[in-house]
Amino acid sequence: MQNPGTWGGALSMAMWIDPSGILLHDQAQNLVLTCPHCHAVSHITATGVPRFADLQAHKPKQVGIVYLCDACHAPIFLRYSVRIYGATRIELSPQFTEVERAREKFAFTYVPEPVELMFKEALVCFSAGALNAFTSMCRRTAQAAFVELGGSGKLRLFDELNHLRQLAELGPETFLKLKSILFGSETDPKPDLPVLDTYEAGIVLEVVKDLLYESFVRKGKLQQAMSVRRYFLDETATNIEALVSVRSGTSDDI
Ligand SMILES: [Zn+2]
Repeated sequence: MQNPGTWGGALSMAMWIDPSGILLHDQAQNLVLTCPHCHAVSHITATGVPRFADLQAHKPKQVGIVYLCDACHAPIFLRYSVRIYGATRIELSPQFTEVERAREKFAFTYVPEPVELMFKEALVCFSAGALNAFTSMCRRTAQAAFVELGGSGKLRLFDELNHLRQLAELGPETFLKLKSILFGSETDPKPDLPVLDTYEAGIVLEVVKDLLYESFVRKGKLQQAMSVRRYFLDETATNIEALVSVRSGTSDDI
């Protein structure tokens, strides 16, 4: 289910386990990924490599290697396909699968609960690489948001999407897919939801995050900041009034 990654994007890169059980990688210094534990984009160091003799005895098609995140020292498990079982080296494909991927996050303060419920699941689907489920949950997130925002809010979101199109320089195909996911419905001609690749899904994720921020978080933050200012203004006015009344009350005694 997870999306495969490739070190350096080069499938020709050499990577092998030698008879002493050491993993040799001609780009070892460039092994960088987003750590699922600390979320830092960090270099990782191989710490757990299967024994050469065990692999030669059973010849599994895939092998697992445990790395250490250089930033937080948590273990990261990657799975590789074996290219060749040679007499003196077991060559691995540089394409790997992250067994545990970094979970996508979003600060849900100020987002209404029905919208949060849907988008949280969208994030889980995205993190798991279940991109069709992610697409469906993005539509349900948008539908929940429209209920909260009302008819005028839906129109405003559509304007905002057009604005984002220019801002992020989205291509016409990506924009049409976004429009279909967020503003389409089950009654549209089939297929009513597009199939996304990893890159497009990443764009949809960032756009939905931005739309939710604009619709709920930004407004909530602004209202909160203004009510705090109003509170201090009221407090100051009350204190001044109290000060004035104390002074005017004691002025007779002086
Ligand atoms: Zn880490």
